[in-house]
Amino acid sequence: MTDAFLGIHTGSFSTPAAGNPTVVMVEAAYRHHGVDARYLNCEVTPAGLADAVAGARAMGWAGFNCSLPHKVAVIELLDALAPSAEVIGAVNTVVATDGRLVGHNTDGQGFVESLRTVVDPAGLDLVVLGAGGAARAVAVETALAGASSVTVVNRDRRRGEELARVVTDGTGVPATFVPWDRSYAVPDGADVLVNATSVGFGDGDALVDVSLDTLRAGLVVADVVVSPPRTALVRAAGERGARTLDGLGMLVGQGALAVRHWTGMEPDRAVMRAAAARALGLE
Ligand code: NDP
Repeated sequence: MTDAFLGIHTGSFSTPAAGNPTVVMVEAAYRHHGVDARYLNCEVTPAGLADAVAGARAMGWAGFNCSLPHKVAVIELLDALAPSAEVIGAVNTVVATDGRLVGHNTDGQGFVESLRTVVDPAGLDLVVLGAGGAARAVAVETALAGASSVTVVNRDRRRGEELARVVTDGTGVPATFVPWDRSYAVPDGADVLVNATSVGFGDGDALVDVSLDTLRAGLVVADVVVSPPRTALVRAAGERGARTLDGLGMLVGQGALAVRHWTGMEPDRAVMRAAAARALGLE
């Protein structure tokens, strides 16, 4: 029998929990760096969320991720929010700090970290397709990272206008809403186009409704969709000379920032990316 595990406890609360690529990615980082920590993937329903959070608190967990559908509901169970999570209105990473549970959002920060491998968003004009959870995180964090402007393009007017308002009021960066009622032509002045819709998830041929002849060299085109990472948009943009970025970088970034919060260690992104790719069946 091995010794009882008394290291750092972390994990994820979501439903459905199966297939969550963060699990193998974070465990790979712990193993690679020899950190005495575990990451438990827990199936938690909305009705069980409060008990799960109380359990993590009682058992002294260092923190946990909240994935669908808990990113908003968890907020009222926490003691405090980090400033950007407050603006975004959603939490994906909870960190136990001095006995208090503090909610962070590393999704958008992970996106910015990934974007910076191609271009720094400071001073750039950004177009975000979508206004759901991923779009909120991406739009707010790129604005906080110094983007000059954010254009939100969405089918649902209410959600799109709300996100533009959240960005403007919460970050001071001017944001405008454009209704997505026809094929979207990327303006000449745009520097970065981000697909933050779910189009392309699970379907490598599904393409967002964008005028392909407006994807040009000089533009950076990023997708948040992880599986498959080479989305139809990423391929079309690459064929037209744009620099491209897939959603795996954001996935790795959000996980790496969570690990840093929980352990104080800077994990090796390459190790995490390889583990995530394996978990998603990409190699
Ligand atoms: P939500 O359900 O919150 O939002 C979905 C968004 O996609 C909405 O804005 C919706 O528009 C839009 N949309 C859906 N279908 C279409 C369509 N056919 N045409 C145009 N717009 C469409 O989802 P999330 O924001 O949580 O997730 C979005 C994607 O981001 C998913 O693929 C998810 O896996 C990925 N993601 C990736 C992460 C990463 O680390 N790489 C992290 C988090 C999410 P409308 O409002 O008009 O309905």
